[in-house]
Amino acid sequence: MSYVNCPRCRLTVRLREDVLTPEYCPRCAAKHGVQSKVYLSATPARLFSRAPERAVEMPRPAAPA
Ligand SMILES: [Zn+2]
Repeated sequence: MSYVNCPRCRLTVRLREDVLTPEYCPRCAAKHGVQSKVYLSATPARLFSRAPERAVEMPRPAAPA
């Protein structure tokens, strides 16, 4: 079983085999209009995160000048 995790909002979705893996977090897209790339893991990110209660802001890539 694999999980889709969003580093921005900590959304974790269990991935079913018959469902395509989303490339971007649907929650960030819906709530913030942000395309946050999700990543796959074998276990929910919150289970191996050391600070699950603390929101971690991912550094934004610098815009090209
Ligand atoms: Zn998200």
